[in-house]
Amino acid sequence: MKGWQCRCGRLKGFGSDGPAACAFCEVCGTTVETSPELHKTERRPHEYYVETVETDEGPKPLSRCKFCYRTKAEIEATNAETQRPMNPQEGKTT
Ligand SMILES: [Zn+2]
Ligand SMILES: [Zn+2]
Repeated sequence: MKGWQCRCGRLKGFGSDGPAACAFCEVCGTTVETSPELHKTERRPHEYYVETVETDEGPKPLSRCKFCYRTKAEIEATNAETQRPMNPQEGKTT
């Protein structure tokens, strides 16, 4: 079992799989790594694959990151929050 975290410690975890390759802390601007020497300031982009999900309106394609398993919509919602915390109104337009 190993642990990992970003430089400031906001993002951290432990387990046998290692950190998601795309994990990136918006606060300290580093990747999430198992050793303090490994932190990088360059973000690794999410890599999406498309899965089909059953909805009330039938099957729909859903883009999901193969590293962190979050959906594209979730990731984009989080990005909008962290990048523009001063303009909550803007998030309401689609
Ligand atoms: Zn951090
Ligand atoms: Zn990801």
